[in-house]
Amino acid sequence: MPDTAPSAAATSPAEPIATDALVIGAGPAGLFQAFELGLLGIHAHIVDTLGHAGGQCAELYGDKPIYDIPGLPFCTGQELVDRLLLQIKPFAPDFHLAQEVTALAALPEGGFAVETSRGTRFAARTVFLAAGVGAFTPRRLKVAGIEAFEGTQVFHRLHPSDDLSGQRVVVGGDDAALERVFALAEAPQQAVLPQSVTLLHRRAVLQATPERLARFEALCGSGAARFQVGQVTGLRTEGKRLVALEVTDPEAAVTPLPLDALVVMLGLSPRLGPLAEWGLALERKQVPVNTATFATTLPGLYAVGDVNTYPGKKKLILSAFHECTLAAFAAAERLFPDRPTTLQYTTSSSELHRRLGVAPA
Ligand SMILES: Cc1cc2nc3c(=O)[nH]c(=O)nc-3n(C[C@H](O)[C@H](O)[C@H](O)COP(=O)(O)OP(=O)(O)OC[C@H]3O[C@@H](n4cnc5c(N)ncnc54)[C@H](O)[C@@H]3O)c2cc1C
Repeated sequence: MPDTAPSAAATSPAEPIATDALVIGAGPAGLFQAFELGLLGIHAHIVDTLGHAGGQCAELYGDKPIYDIPGLPFCTGQELVDRLLLQIKPFAPDFHLAQEVTALAALPEGGFAVETSRGTRFAARTVFLAAGVGAFTPRRLKVAGIEAFEGTQVFHRLHPSDDLSGQRVVVGGDDAALERVFALAEAPQQAVLPQSVTLLHRRAVLQATPERLARFEALCGSGAARFQVGQVTGLRTEGKRLVALEVTDPEAAVTPLPLDALVVMLGLSPRLGPLAEWGLALERKQVPVNTATFATTLPGLYAVGDVNTYPGKKKLILSAFHECTLAAFAAAERLFPDRPTTLQYTTSSSELHRRLGVAPA
């Protein structure tokens, strides 16, 4: 769905981005929050750790069915995300993807100073915490000393600027690792390929579709890729360079695997992370809210979706949608106390039609 894919907003400006509304998390709650704000004439910026929108729906069950979205008898996780992106398009929220909100502090004059892991800064009058079960972060390989090579020889996500041409690359991990091997070993003709691409997997059997297994076998057959079974149990270094992994095979034999770069693809796990340090009251790692407004204990900060808790809370997408609606109304009253925030129907309100871009010319 390239037509509705979110476009990244400019990052790292010198001045903080001043905004009426900042949404932390681009899962279903964060996306629908931007919609409800848009209906009330409030533009939103959205930040997510992932490089794409969708939260759990896209990351954990993109191709699996959901049956309990009102009016949509069936759709996949990714289809729901695509539909939400289409729905918020008229309000053109600014997306700041692949960056984690690391700091949030209440300002004396009201609102919040917010900063991300990429240095993007916001001065936000209201903030909507739609952080779900936490920021999706790559699982690390648990080997002593590996952190020293992160970003230089050990990668969890490859950015276009990470050039591995001519290098001996080891890709370690799960099913997603196979995709990375294809991307590295099947680059277009003119690209300079890595010198070698080795897939390191803990078992001899790969969990993949027959088509993808055949594609990998073809690459191994042509010498473009190799397969090695085992687990990384140690590192060999020379000076400041990582020169080989120590790989222990299922028979407990240890062999060195020489390399220039290691790409770790062990999946993503949610991490509550910095949120715990923002001065919010937390109950079992969740944020208590007032169910009339979805306000937290910090004035101007609302929590919607899986991240919040209240008596009777059900961690369902439809609950999140309701929460976003009430939070948007509460925020509108806070942002524009002199403007009436009356309920209008999208069916009949010419003002909403104008905002949605569907008003007749
Ligand atoms: C396998 C599975 C099946 C499910 N099936 C259904 C179903 O059929 N029906 C249903 O209603 N629900 C279902 N759910 C639950 C549903 O997915 C969640 O209720 C929903 O995703 C919650 O949405 P959310 O936007 O609150 O959080 P999430 O979807 O978790 O999104 C939160 C986003 O916030 C980001 N984030 C967190 N912290 C930060 C930070 N500090 N900085 C930047 N970004 C951050 C995360 O990276 C993430 O993308 C299912 C869940 C699972 C795991």
